[in-house]
Amino acid sequence: MKVVLKKGKEKLVAMGHPWVFSGAVGSVEGKPDERGLCGVYSHNGGLLGTGYYNEKSAIRIRMLSKGSSFTAGDLRQRLSLAIERRCGLLTSDTDSCRVINSEGDFLPGLTVDRYGSGICLQIGTAGMEAWRAVIIDSLSEMLSPSFIYERSDTEARKREGLADSEGLIKGSLPDPLIIRENGVSFLVNLVCGQKTGFFFDQRDSRALVRRYSAGRIVCDCFSYSGGFAVNAAKGGALSVAAVDASANAGKWLSQNAGINGADINFTEADVFSFLRQPGGGFDLLILDPPKFARHAGEVDRAARGYKDINLAGFRKLTSGGLLFTFSCSNAVDPYLFRQIVFSAAADARRQAQLLHVLTAGPDHPVNIAHKEGEYLKGLVLRVF
Ligand code: SAH
Repeated sequence: MKVVLKKGKEKLVAMGHPWVFSGAVGSVEGKPDERGLCGVYSHNGGLLGTGYYNEKSAIRIRMLSKGSSFTAGDLRQRLSLAIERRCGLLTSDTDSCRVINSEGDFLPGLTVDRYGSGICLQIGTAGMEAWRAVIIDSLSEMLSPSFIYERSDTEARKREGLADSEGLIKGSLPDPLIIRENGVSFLVNLVCGQKTGFFFDQRDSRALVRRYSAGRIVCDCFSYSGGFAVNAAKGGALSVAAVDASANAGKWLSQNAGINGADINFTEADVFSFLRQPGGGFDLLILDPPKFARHAGEVDRAARGYKDINLAGFRKLTSGGLLFTFSCSNAVDPYLFRQIVFSAAADARRQAQLLHVLTAGPDHPVNIAHKEGEYLKGLVLRVF
């Protein structure tokens, strides 16, 4: 199959952006092969590379190579390089991390997380689904995992015309499954936890919270299973409160507090209303909400959400207190996020110093030509 792009639409692809939107497609000749592969050409006939094509998706093509083919051998090599590049991350203190980060590892549509001796995989696109057997065989051979669990239950899959696919593919799940991150233990529920079970992207930021927590009154908003809260307690916080709307999050957080000997006071509540209630006096506040904007059309609404929680958050901080504030909406770019947070500080009549600018850790590499991959951003502010 041959796809020719409209004039001018070749630039991003030539620079290494892995997506071709439907509006960029000029003409299509022939049918995709059994793996959905197509050759991608500029309007003047120059080869841009090979990608996989999906008529059902607004992202019509995801690029796999700059050459005229993409083979099972190429896929295996990418998997093997990505695995090799994580070696330095895994230590006696950290036994789990992201192993394959989709576009960031030049494997669009594939996410693999390592949980101790096992792995959890998520296939997000029809084009990657076509390589399922190769992926599973290769990962089995390269990692010899004690289990392979699948959590392909994303919204993106529906847009691709795929049904959910979940469950154990190989081996058996440890019960309980306990992982180590920077010397802290976490129980993970792969079956009904969020995403693939645990948010590895915040590993470095959790370690930073731990460093700053000594002697502080800490509140972890949108706590999930307590990634930040447990680290705050481990770092010597005076007290740690955690808030999440999910009862399961509360249950898992209590278990995680228990296995780490941490004392955490969990409240099941909507953070928006929790922060509006009287009280506060926090010396360190974490705001790590879920994605507020799924696409560009939701950015304004998301901006209001970020503004709300940050404004209320600033009001709850003591003078000299620290705010760790995050956004994982890729549609909200880092500059806009700063503007929102800084204007919330101004509205709350607080002065602040910027101490750290945070992103996901190095097991979540970003292809610099693919700004959509840079979804997680965080700011650490000292507030007066
Ligand atoms: N900080 C966590 C990850 C947070 S994920 C960690 O380090 O692991 C986002 C969390 O926000 C989820 O647990 C979800 O249940 C919770 N959540 C979503 N909307 C919420 C709301 N309005 N109020 C409180 N919690 C909410």
